[in-house]
Amino acid sequence: MLTDIEIAQQTKMTPITEIAASLGIREEELEPYGRFKAKLNDSLYNRLKDRKDGKLILVTAINPTPAGEGKTTTTAGLGEAMAKIGKNAVIALREPSLGPVFGVKGGAAGGGYAQVVPMEDINLHFTGDMHALTSANNLLCAMLDNHMQQGNELRIDQRRVLIKRCLDMNDRALRNVVVGLGGKMNGIPREDGFIITVASEVMAILCLAADSSDLKERLGNILVAYNLDGEPVYAKDLKAEGAMAALLRDAINPNLVQTLEGTPVIMHGGPFANIAHGCNSVRATRLALKLADYCITEAGFGSDLGAEKFFDIKCRLAGLRPNAVVVVATARALKYNGGVPKAETGNENLEALKKGIVNLGAHIQNMRKYGVPVVVAINRFDSDTDAELAYIEQYCKENGADFALSEVFAKGGEGGMELARKVCAAAEQPSDFHPIYAGDLPVREKIATIAKEIYGADGVTYTAQAEKALKEIAALGGDALPVCIAKTQYSLSDNAALLGRPAGFQITIRDLRLSNGAGFVVAYAGDIMTMPGLPKRPAAERIDVDASGKISGLF
Ligand code: ADP
Ligand code: MG
Repeated sequence: MLTDIEIAQQTKMTPITEIAASLGIREEELEPYGRFKAKLNDSLYNRLKDRKDGKLILVTAINPTPAGEGKTTTTAGLGEAMAKIGKNAVIALREPSLGPVFGVKGGAAGGGYAQVVPMEDINLHFTGDMHALTSANNLLCAMLDNHMQQGNELRIDQRRVLIKRCLDMNDRALRNVVVGLGGKMNGIPREDGFIITVASEVMAILCLAADSSDLKERLGNILVAYNLDGEPVYAKDLKAEGAMAALLRDAINPNLVQTLEGTPVIMHGGPFANIAHGCNSVRATRLALKLADYCITEAGFGSDLGAEKFFDIKCRLAGLRPNAVVVVATARALKYNGGVPKAETGNENLEALKKGIVNLGAHIQNMRKYGVPVVVAINRFDSDTDAELAYIEQYCKENGADFALSEVFAKGGEGGMELARKVCAAAEQPSDFHPIYAGDLPVREKIATIAKEIYGADGVTYTAQAEKALKEIAALGGDALPVCIAKTQYSLSDNAALLGRPAGFQITIRDLRLSNGAGFVVAYAGDIMTMPGLPKRPAAERIDVDASGKISGLF
């Protein structure tokens, strides 16, 4: 079989002006970036805002193996399949971060015959959103350090600066740095560190902002540091929000691209799914809902992280009402959850599958708790055997879950028609969507509810540092906000080694942090990497460009 990039490069794309025209988008509402990418400006949403919303479909997954199990592939393929069964759908996706493309991951725009194109552009600089976000974040950092240098009127405590510089690169050497060395004219020396751009609060804000004035207000509300009296200092105290918003003027507008079969994709924003909420922008989702009968969207990692935050943070804050949820499962990941090492997940192993399938059971039950109809998509890999697929299907039947075998990776939309029919039928059922916890519960009880209902934990333990942070955050009004739990994606628990469906465990909250501009409280259940590193043999070694500008080595 051809590689993802070979398949993508063989496909003749439709000019983006034609994709836009097929959606009824007017010339003045479209800002082309070349021939196959465009931004959609505010006049489009303003014209459509009273139109009835389409149905909202979320694609999520069981706990992934280290390779990722096919949510984006399934999302792209489902969108293509919708067209094949005569429905109109628009896909809303996150835009990939540049850093991981050069690490282990390769591309992040789907795979096989279910991809979003132009994949090279999407995976590399795209329309420049990541660069704009990086600049906006780093402007805030520069203004803060300059403020301390120029007399420090706000009495910022240099030991309690909360914001970090960012870069869209996997660069472990920048995790911990000292800035301001070199004497009086070169700044105030202090410990600092870089995070990857998608882990920044500015990214989370871009994804939750309704419009540019909301964006500016949220940027101003970023908690940047504490002063020497322990009082909060916000970005607006540094008068940074106007210039930051100016840098984000174009980045706030959603990007329009297409799948290999010409299904429209609005790809915009891409926050981490651990320390942030892991979904594309609210503006992209809202636009997709206005433009089509079905908006298909994805949330990061498994449903314990991505879907939980999609429902409890994004849908709550944006007033969205999902109509159906697709849980992607693979025989490989279920075998991994049954204890098979990653390298052996391609071999038939019914025993491991039977052991690991409880993980799927947990994700189905969890999604039902939100009152939204569930469809399981079994993402078929070449190595899957008939016996394995039959076993997963039997399990779904016994558990009363709708399911379909999805072959979109190998066949494109053609391979997802049954899934599309099942999803449309599910979306017709009454949805009684409700978040898992009430907004007015204290943060401690919100965390307890997620731990018990979604993770299956017995309870929550707080370190002394976390207890202190809880008090501080409550004093700043944080108790009214939803919580965003940062934990491992590999387990339902906070221990990556506990696979399947762990029971009899406690979640430990190590620290909490107020993402005051984004509007949530981050609770750290474990060490979460905010600046990834490169592996021993980075994908970058295989990426190349020839004299004609053709890129190779992205997979
Ligand atoms: P996620 O969105 O869950 O992280 P992706 O859709 O990005 O997952 O897929 C992760 C990787 O697995 C990609 O490289 C993709 O090409 C590959 N992949 C997904 N589904 C299949 C499949 N059915 N067969 C082979 N490879 C697949
Ligand atoms: Mg994905």
